[in-house]
Amino acid sequence: MMLRHGSDADQVLSGAGLACPSCGDLLAPWGYARRRSVRGHDGTTQLRPRRGRCRGCRTTHVLLPASCLPRRAVTVQVGGEVLLAKVSGASHRRIAADLGLPADTSAAGSGAPRPTRRG
Ligand SMILES: [Zn+2]
Repeated sequence: MMLRHGSDADQVLSGAGLACPSCGDLLAPWGYARRRSVRGHDGTTQLRPRRGRCRGCRTTHVLLPASCLPRRAVTVQVGGEVLLAKVSGASHRRIAADLGLPADTSAAGSGAPRPTRRG
């Protein structure tokens, strides 16, 4: 689940609260999701997103910052540029070269950024 731009997961969870997308009850802080690398225009950064657990249905949700794509290892900006380049007919090698992505991965070739592992 995505947080609004500029919001902090801890502040959201401890403040007004965040509604569970499954049942609508409030989420409570529940540790952290696995650490992941996210590639942006400024290089790769490490991210360890907060996890929230629903007080009603007890489902846990990973709270990603708005700058990240769910299940992708690139930022929203890079992912959007990959999609636009793919729609305009660029090859995956051209996209990879233009955006500084690895050409031997599916990051630029599938029309979508390379997915990350779940969790
Ligand atoms: Zn719930």
